[in-house]
Amino acid sequence: MLDCAIIGGGPAGLTAGLYATRGGLENVTMFEKGMPGGQIMNSSEIENYPGVTGEITGMDLMTSWPEQCQRFGLKHEMVNVTRVTKNEKLFTIHKEDGTTTDAHSVIIGTGSSPRRVGFNGEDELFGKGVSTCATCDGFFYKNKEVAVIGGGDTALEEALYLAKICSKVYLVHRRDTFRSAPNTIDRVKRTENIELVLNSSPDEVYGDKMGVVGLKVKNKDGQIRDIVVPGVFTFVGNDVNNETLLQEDGSFLCDMNDQGQVIVDISMNTSIPGLFATGDMRIAAPKQVVSAAGDGAVAALQAISYVDELLND
Ligand code: FAD
Ligand code: NAP
Repeated sequence: MLDCAIIGGGPAGLTAGLYATRGGLENVTMFEKGMPGGQIMNSSEIENYPGVTGEITGMDLMTSWPEQCQRFGLKHEMVNVTRVTKNEKLFTIHKEDGTTTDAHSVIIGTGSSPRRVGFNGEDELFGKGVSTCATCDGFFYKNKEVAVIGGGDTALEEALYLAKICSKVYLVHRRDTFRSAPNTIDRVKRTENIELVLNSSPDEVYGDKMGVVGLKVKNKDGQIRDIVVPGVFTFVGNDVNNETLLQEDGSFLCDMNDQGQVIVDISMNTSIPGLFATGDMRIAAPKQVVSAAGDGAVAALQAISYVDELLND
């Protein structure tokens, strides 16, 4: 029986683990299906985490977080959580390996996953030239040309990263304005080997046995342009990972909004007592490492009070 189960080991889950264990909860396990660290591990550069100066990668930032939590007693179980249920005052964590763990409280921070764009050939050539991770795959295109799809912070930052490795980056965006930080837009516009392909959407990626050969994009007048590149990087946003809250009858364990984000109050309380939601999966999330970490701390402090009251009632 756990005092607190933490689902997800990104910035939110790890910070929750740090505050819950250091704050006195005895039995706290973080269930993380992969390497702890979360989606920022895929980022080639982070420059807006307080106290960080100089160029560091997401992986550099996150490497020490699990070790810090373990010092205070956080346990890590590497497993995919399939469902969280609640019966009376007890939560049950259902895991992919068929086992279950009971807990008095749950802090969930399962984040979000990269969205597919939906053009022809994207799924067939995924992993064969179509990628959602510049840090992972950028090096394969050293001194070659690549295309980047999207107009948000991620697309622009990753285009800048790729421009340092690749000979040229075509930044394909469906509008002529970006939804990114002004400073990032300026840097993109000043980078000589980034060509902006605006008011254009990808129509088809095509390839051969070796992988991607090129990308056809259609502009708003319907004209097709063939961009011959061996690599296509897509950054068009993320979907909330909320499947673990889905119950057998198709309802969600707690209240969600119509975009599938968990509704929480300012203290990360969901509509279910003892269940707290944090980070990118909650409503109005700023989708930043610092805010996800802040949510984790707030949720852990709430969980400590909740468990204390529950066990001393
Ligand atoms: P995540 O980081 O998504 O972590 C969720 C964790 O839960 C993952 O490790 C996942 O494996 C695990 N998980 C999911 N489902 C399950 C399950 N069923 N069972 C077990 N484990 C599960 N933010 C900034 O502040 N600055 C930046 O410069 C910046 N750059 C970014 C660049 C990129 C390329 C991306 C993609 C994001 C960037 N962000 C940046 C945003 C930032 O990464 C996120 O806001 C932050 O990681 C959210 O943290 P989180 O803990 O809520 O979720
Ligand atoms: P995002 O902000 O949602 O941007 C997605 C982009 O993809 C948009 O430009 C969108 O176009 C485009 N797009 C979506 N669907 C498309 C489709 N089917 N075809 C073509 N284009 C499509 O996603 P994000 O850039 O991944 O950022 C997610 C969150 O993380 C944001 O809140 C962001 O601020 C944050 N983040 C922050 C940092 C940082 O602080 N340094 C870095 C990375 C991410 P439209 O613009 O036309 O909608």
